[in-house]
Amino acid sequence: MDKRTDLVGLSQAELVGFVQQIGEPAYRGRQIFAAVQHRRLRSFDEMSDLPKALRERLRETATASTLTVESRYLSADGTRRFLMKTHDNFPVETVFIPEERRDTICFSSQSGCPLQCTFCLTAQLGLLRSLTPGEIVEQIIIALNDAYGVGEKPPRGTNLVGMGAGEPFLNFDSLLRATRIMADPQGLFIVPHRVTVSTAGVVPRIRELATIPDRPHLAISLAAPTDELRDVLMPINKKWPLEELLGACREFEQTLKAGERFTFEYVMLDGINDSDEQARQLANLLNRHDLHAKVNLIPHNPADPLPYQPSPATRVEMFKGILESKGIHTFVRKPRGRDIFAACGQLAAVTQTVGLGANSQGG
Ligand code: SAH
Repeated sequence: MDKRTDLVGLSQAELVGFVQQIGEPAYRGRQIFAAVQHRRLRSFDEMSDLPKALRERLRETATASTLTVESRYLSADGTRRFLMKTHDNFPVETVFIPEERRDTICFSSQSGCPLQCTFCLTAQLGLLRSLTPGEIVEQIIIALNDAYGVGEKPPRGTNLVGMGAGEPFLNFDSLLRATRIMADPQGLFIVPHRVTVSTAGVVPRIRELATIPDRPHLAISLAAPTDELRDVLMPINKKWPLEELLGACREFEQTLKAGERFTFEYVMLDGINDSDEQARQLANLLNRHDLHAKVNLIPHNPADPLPYQPSPATRVEMFKGILESKGIHTFVRKPRGRDIFAACGQLAAVTQTVGLGANSQGG
């Protein structure tokens, strides 16, 4: 077990505290924070503006990186999937999705996932462990360095989505610590307004998020319009059923500030949750709770062990039409990186040798 302090998981103030403890002046802390978070350096050797003796000292007590990249897969659509390992050998996956006006990085909050959603491949891993704030932040550093070069400024804006492996709201403190570190203007400078976190419906944390001023955007994974079906697809529903979940969503919606986004995600499973009747049930459910959030329909991303197929495009359009006729703003999300197991619900540490442009690179 590595007892050294992971500096990637410290805020600027905490880093100042850390260097003062080892008898260094405060400005060294700010310098190291900038080296890790702004210049995105992942070893003390590269921090050549620090005295050699200090670098040696740091190596004994601290680390500037704990994740290693095991493999990297490149999709035909430009999406990149990184399969990383923690220092204690647990898989971590991160996806970089280039778009015209911005890049989106999808990060993981846990290695594996304790929830047992039947349509998601990550569920099959079970929970391995929750990630530390440093491990969450470092995923972003690695993805940006890979896309643009070490420390290079991204040419477009960077959006983050907490939609990788794991349930972010079961690792809430680390998630919030990580978002605060990333928001620092002297570091990565990715503000909460550029971050969206998705939950399967951990009601107490939705209520808690409602009280936090500088919070990321919220997305809720629904997947079913009735408790009967949601109990099967997302067993977390037995703990927090739809009435309770949507009640908390309603309270949350009342705290929304201008420009804040709040969305529902609905994965479309052929013949399971995509009928006209289910579209009407979903619309009525949201309207009955007086919810105005938009709905993102996500075509199911198939994977061999999963017993589902994506709904046909015409079915998705019909479903969307019904929701819209009942006043619900609906968007259809385009799947990205399916060919490299990088799409929603496909993160299960798949090491694959086939697929377009697969490209392996040691850490
Ligand atoms: N645990 C959180 C974060 C994971 S987000 C949550 O459930 O929200 C993953 C998103 O991808 C969720 O909206 C989920 O419904 C969706 N998803 C999971 N498996 C999928 C699959 N095989 N195809 C398409 N979307 C999927």
